Amino acid sequence: MNQINKQPIIQEKIRKIRQDIIKKVKIRSPNNDLNKPVYFWTKPDRLLNEVGNELTIILRTRGCEWALGDNGGCSMCGYISDANIDHVNSQNIINQFDFAFKNSLDKIQSDTGQWIIKIFNSGSFLDDTEMPKTAREYIYKKVAQTKNIKEFVIESRPEYLNHENLDEVKKFLPNKYVEVGIGLETVNDYIRINYINKGFKFNDFQEALNLCREYKIGVKAYLLFKPPFLSEQAAIDDCKKSIKKLLEIKINSISINPVNIQKGTLVEYLWFQNRYRPPWIYSIITCLNESLQEKEFKTTRILCDPSGAGTNRGVHNCLNSDCNKQNLKIISNFTLSQDVNELNYSPQCFCKKQYELNLL
Ligand code: SF4
Ligand SMILES: [Zn+2]
Repeated sequence: MNQINKQPIIQEKIRKIRQDIIKKVKIRSPNNDLNKPVYFWTKPDRLLNEVGNELTIILRTRGCEWALGDNGGCSMCGYISDANIDHVNSQNIINQFDFAFKNSLDKIQSDTGQWIIKIFNSGSFLDDTEMPKTAREYIYKKVAQTKNIKEFVIESRPEYLNHENLDEVKKFLPNKYVEVGIGLETVNDYIRINYINKGFKFNDFQEALNLCREYKIGVKAYLLFKPPFLSEQAAIDDCKKSIKKLLEIKINSISINPVNIQKGTLVEYLWFQNRYRPPWIYSIITCLNESLQEKEFKTTRILCDPSGAGTNRGVHNCLNSDCNKQNLKIISNFTLSQDVNELNYSPQCFCKKQYELNLL
């Protein structure tokens, strides 16, 4: 895999910040209950063809190899804070999954609608060092046995998508729609490598996508809205270009993730220095509106369910909570319905002018 980095100073800073946070995580680790997941929840979600419900489980693992390694991980990602780094074994992961799954099973089985299950581990589900094969197989089997679950979503960096792993998924889940989320972040290699420190190129993503297609496994591309060092307008332009390209290659799903300021990251460091502001909600609506007018996204599901939305650390407009709520509602209505007309409603707030000045 090619890795280019023209800005070693940024990478050096990321590495230094990451080492500090890893030390803190290791001190905190003995307090973690390794037999319970970090979080799990159920809520309405957009399935491929209709509105259904999701069960999302966040498992605690040793953490993302890319973040733990010499490269220090991605500039906006603080998931390592949820990791345990040492001593998470296969049985712990099975117990975590069981805890959430058993708690939700009645709800899933008694529902007349369809369900999607998302297993996130703040890293790569298909990385054996993070998610042991026995734990993966256990999860596949449980999901396969549950009739109402129609879709199964995991996340992985492209380097872990190989024939062996995909054979395994297909063997255990022949009758479910499986989708792998890949943090592409942007189609622009320069931004991804230098500002996000992602360490892979668009070609690597494309190869992973082709491999998934061989197995009839769907791919969801995550797009990072407003990476560090981009202005508000540049962020809109970058995301529009990415959506356009991904629609052209007929990606299965696109999930737009506005940056939220996570602890122990380069982005947080810049934010503390007033060198970074999370994106405005207006920008997301503009970007979606301008990218999706042509109705060419009929075969692609477009998702946006921002974390920390409406807070100082997340995507937000002004301090007026109604302004944030109303604008976020536009996005969630669109995500659930996939109807672009939802994006045309524009609630009025005094901050719109300030926002427009920001774009100049
Ligand atoms: S964004 Fe993904 S690849 Fe990057 S450090 Fe976080 S978990 Fe690892
Ligand atoms: Zn406002």
